[in-house]
Amino acid sequence: MDAPPPTPPPWHSLSAADALARLESAADGLSADEVQRRAERFGPNRLAEAKQRGALRRFIDQFDNVLIYVLFAAAAVTALLEHWTDTGVIVGVTLINAVVGYVQEGRAERALAAVRKMLVTEALVLRGGRKETIDAAGLVPGDIVLLAPGDKVPADIRLLAARGLRIDEAVLTGESVPVEKSPAPAPDDAILAERASMAFASTLVVAGQAKGAVVATGAATELGRIGGLLAETAVLATPLMTKLAQFGRQLTFVILGGAALVFAVGVLAYKNAASEMFLATVGLAVAAIPEGLPAIVTIVLAIGVRRMARRHAVVRRLPAVETLGSVSVICTDKTGTLTRNELSVRAAVTAEGEYEFTGIGYAPEGAVARGGERLPAAPRDLAAMLRAAALCNDAVLRRRGGEWIVEGDPTEGALLAAAQRAGIDPLGEIQRAPRLDAIPFESEHRFMATLHRVPDGGTVAYLKGAPERIVAMCARLGGTGADAPLDAELWLAHARDLAAAGYRVLAIAEKRLDHVASDALLHGQVAADCTLLGLCGLIDPPRPEAIAAVAVCHAAGISVRMITGDHPETARAIARALGLPAENVLSGRALDALDDEALAARVPEVGVFARASPEHKLRIVGALKAKGHVVAMTGDGSNDAPALKRADIGIAMGRKGTEAAKEAAAMVLTDDNFASIAAAVQAGRVCFDNLRKTIAYILPTNGGEALVVIAAVLLGVVLPITPLQILWINLVTEVTLSLALAFEPGEKGVMARPPRRPDEPLLSRFLAWRIVFVSVLMAALAFAAFEWERTRGASLEVARTAAVNVIVACEAFYLINTRVLHGSTLTRAAWFGSRAALIAFLVLALVQAGFTYLPQAQAVFATAPLGLASWAVIIAAGAVLYAAVELEKAIMSRLAHDGPTP
Ligand code: ADP
Ligand code: MG
Repeated sequence: MDAPPPTPPPWHSLSAADALARLESAADGLSADEVQRRAERFGPNRLAEAKQRGALRRFIDQFDNVLIYVLFAAAAVTALLEHWTDTGVIVGVTLINAVVGYVQEGRAERALAAVRKMLVTEALVLRGGRKETIDAAGLVPGDIVLLAPGDKVPADIRLLAARGLRIDEAVLTGESVPVEKSPAPAPDDAILAERASMAFASTLVVAGQAKGAVVATGAATELGRIGGLLAETAVLATPLMTKLAQFGRQLTFVILGGAALVFAVGVLAYKNAASEMFLATVGLAVAAIPEGLPAIVTIVLAIGVRRMARRHAVVRRLPAVETLGSVSVICTDKTGTLTRNELSVRAAVTAEGEYEFTGIGYAPEGAVARGGERLPAAPRDLAAMLRAAALCNDAVLRRRGGEWIVEGDPTEGALLAAAQRAGIDPLGEIQRAPRLDAIPFESEHRFMATLHRVPDGGTVAYLKGAPERIVAMCARLGGTGADAPLDAELWLAHARDLAAAGYRVLAIAEKRLDHVASDALLHGQVAADCTLLGLCGLIDPPRPEAIAAVAVCHAAGISVRMITGDHPETARAIARALGLPAENVLSGRALDALDDEALAARVPEVGVFARASPEHKLRIVGALKAKGHVVAMTGDGSNDAPALKRADIGIAMGRKGTEAAKEAAAMVLTDDNFASIAAAVQAGRVCFDNLRKTIAYILPTNGGEALVVIAAVLLGVVLPITPLQILWINLVTEVTLSLALAFEPGEKGVMARPPRRPDEPLLSRFLAWRIVFVSVLMAALAFAAFEWERTRGASLEVARTAAVNVIVACEAFYLINTRVLHGSTLTRAAWFGSRAALIAFLVLALVQAGFTYLPQAQAVFATAPLGLASWAVIIAAGAVLYAAVELEKAIMSRLAHDGPTP
């Protein structure tokens, strides 16, 4: 990069024209060549990623835990006692432990970082006179950018034109009230917050429209200069992880206290040598502290996040992974989420009567018919309506490959296609009647209007929108030449009929505004006295996968509510097609008449909210939460942001969603599809199950080992497993077996049971019981094998090697048990269904063979080769544990079914 100029020009105080000239740009944008040149010179429009901890730092951090301190103390004591082998092994184990932790943590962080990269900010630019949507990283100084409500400003921009522009600059200035912006030069000495002629990177457009030239990108922006970060770095912490870490710390202190007690008993009561007792105590601490748990939890969550991303749901906030598992209501948008958002005009009603349309998708081919008979040309009334619909329109139809696609709002694209099918050329129309101004569509107002200079020199406003809105603005019925008074009731009835047939209905109108002097269009100018041209009925078929996903949600005890801006009858028809309860439709107006309490009382029975605006969404979330629900809510507009924040899980649309909505959301759907929400809920449930399984698996290992040591000390017998051997067991089972559970694909019934209660503790009574049960069993089996070897005359080394292998075998079998927490695992799938588990078993068998037979391992761990009889006993011990746990499951589920449910 060239040396940057020391001080940039004072862009805010230059005139717009001056700024443009200094940037060597033009109002219609840079050429492709110039963009290329500048991209090379200025680099990508990206801020430095959050500084990651360096590799060394991350490695050193691995030693910062209580277990390692205990081990270091042990190493020091063994060194003082000149037990050099022990010292070496303990130090070696801490190193291996650190390496394993380092690798696991790195994996988890990388998985999350990769997911974050999937969320790119887009920008609408003007280049060579053409509008293009690009990845904001590709912006260069001099680019002309268009801003609309909900956009995140993609770079520092000098405004060239603006209309009602208001921007939330809280990220930059801390000021939470949006500021008004306009292209007029600001005073030379204006501070950042007063530079009204500028829009700064990462601030949010709240209202209005604007066009501006990029003056700074990447690190050169104001945000870059204060060291801000483009993507907030998600913290690797969720409520559950925090709770678990807390639990781990408490457990550690309990264990250390217990170890001290055991030490005292051993030395005072049994008069054991202090040095020997010390090693036993260290063994106990090592055995009992579940040091691998935090890392495994992170990995389970990271795998959950990755799985969701694969199913088109990108998690922005990690706690969402946990919350998803307990979602009990999903409030979802209709258009584009439950439906395909491939709209098509099928019916029209004008002053002269009803028409039908044929044609596929957005292709211009197709025709108009009346009463089933194809018309050679569109009659005058229909042509007038479609001409207005084509002018009051921001969409563009384009041919890509063999297919016609819409750029912009599909509803508007459908109107363009309909106009073409009726023989009207939208481009020709806009040339004949150029646009002067516009009131953009907003879901609050539910209409859009544009102002045009018509060929006779006058100005005309064209309107389209929801029939109730438009009809209320109209006084006459037009389209035939001689306007007639409008029968509003009749036309609202027409609209209702179309809606009841499942059509999305738009009314089209016009108004001559010849007397207005200015070229600006205001709400007041079109509020009354317009002329209705007719109604259009558009179809938007439901997504087949959404129908299936709704059924899945219902089976999973999750209720699905549709929230739409559409007509209640349209909403009802679509709801029916989707299998949603359609009897109870509450309209936005009826909702307004209810206070919060009344709404909360009403809300359980309402399946569809129609003619709803973003504020309604906020109230609906509130009412559902008041009823104790865990609510997921979708949204796309910037006005949806408050509802998304208030919901337990805010879900933004990745494609048509605004940056403001994405910023507020916990999760973003990259395909805008309802089915992806259901998939994410499933992944969330599986993830939570896997967490419980991992805990149910890891804790008994620690418990069993600890019980062996405690029992030996209290009975005053020789330790059946040495501290070093315990370290060994923990190490190998952690990197192989417990990891296998993190990859569990989930049980068959995950979506056939009700949502998890959010207040349900992780360590439920059931889980605690299972942990104690297995711990005791494992310890008993290890002890029994040890005693058996001793009584038949085996050496201490052989007996200990057998005991270690019993514990490992028990764990291998218990892994199968744990693959299904409650149900039976006497199935092929449970035994052979997990590749991760099979690989883990294989690795474990090899590693244990090495541990038992390699001379080096024998020298370090004091192990000895085992005979066939020993192995038979070891496998049998594992099988006994397996059978006992399966029996326990069967008895417990029998009790749960017969007796009163606890
Ligand atoms: P949803 O997205 O929930 O289907 P919208 O808020 O987009 O609902 O639309 C509500 C109503 O506003 C529609 O039924 C239609 O009558 C009208 N409408 C939708 N899109 C436009 C548009 N681009 N211009 C004018 N009116 C529109
Ligand atoms: Mg919409």
